[in-house]
Amino acid sequence: MLCPSEQSSKYISEQNTAIAAVVAAAKLCEMVQKEVFVQGIEKQDRSPVTIADFASQALICRTIASTFPNDAIVAEEDAASLRRPEMTRCLQQVTRFVKRVTPDVDAESVLDWIDRGSSETVKARYWTLDPIDGTKGFLRGDQYAIALALIENGEVKLGILACPSLPLELDHPEGDRGVLFYAIRNKGAYRRGINQTDVHSIHVANPNDQQKLRFVEGVETAHSDHSKQEALAQSVGIQAPSIRMDSQAKYGMIAQGQAALYLRLPNPASPNYREKIWDHAAGSILVEEAGGRVTDMRGRPLQFSTGRSLQENQGIIASNGMLHDAILKALNA
Ligand code: AMP
Ligand code: MG
Repeated sequence: MLCPSEQSSKYISEQNTAIAAVVAAAKLCEMVQKEVFVQGIEKQDRSPVTIADFASQALICRTIASTFPNDAIVAEEDAASLRRPEMTRCLQQVTRFVKRVTPDVDAESVLDWIDRGSSETVKARYWTLDPIDGTKGFLRGDQYAIALALIENGEVKLGILACPSLPLELDHPEGDRGVLFYAIRNKGAYRRGINQTDVHSIHVANPNDQQKLRFVEGVETAHSDHSKQEALAQSVGIQAPSIRMDSQAKYGMIAQGQAALYLRLPNPASPNYREKIWDHAAGSILVEEAGGRVTDMRGRPLQFSTGRSLQENQGIIASNGMLHDAILKALNA
């Protein structure tokens, strides 16, 4: 499963555990999507959560907590709403799916596993998890991702990203789907099919490859500034329309060289929004290890030691490296 160059890596045990957990969660999300009519439950911040988000978080937290019991986990969801009496049916559904992987589980343990991801105090070493990144994409049947990363002293050391709906063959968008990306700091970035064992090293787009001179951005208009992004891309010579997709699959596209630039500028309606750590940790190490660059819109490195949000950063620019300085110059002129 792993490339020879990775065998001696310091984080190999963490990587093996994390890959197994993320792959199991990705398969569970697909089962939920196939078997039930999934509805979004509105959270306090009005974003949706589903039974698949809860099941994925329970599974991954359980695996990480049992293998690395001293590690903190900072995950997107918590079980407070699921503990309410009116959510009993929903909790039963979550438990039913988690049982597919761990048959002897009960609802109380599922709640506790979900809450194992509620570390607030960011320690020197912690994991961050988005059990379903792009829940809106998951609900629409579009792109979504399961994203897990390990951070030490503010630096992402390991990232795993499963994209169950991303086409496997880059040139055959209608073919089989399901891509797993992973990277350890200073060891390169890799991808394989979620259900396959063949591993390939990945690299950002070659600066001379005009076909890959495209940019990716989110689908949700509220999460970034589409019109400013289009103008900015044009200012550095990108004429092709953007590729819009939900979740950190966008980072996967840059890391595997399918696009050269990911733009995420703050939406004017929420100028003070601070990006969440779980929305960028796994994706950013993939792009960096594939030879690209990731900063905020002012060119600052992403700071993963400021709590649940990237307090010191605003906006995100990820690129194959070549376009990065031109974008920053255009933005900060
Ligand atoms: P995407 O799929 O790229 O649209 O990103 C999804 C993520 O956007 C979610 O996981 C949210 O954490 C995050 N999000 C929510 N509101 C905003 C906002 N106003 N600006 C940027 N990101 C947001
Ligand atoms: Mg997310």
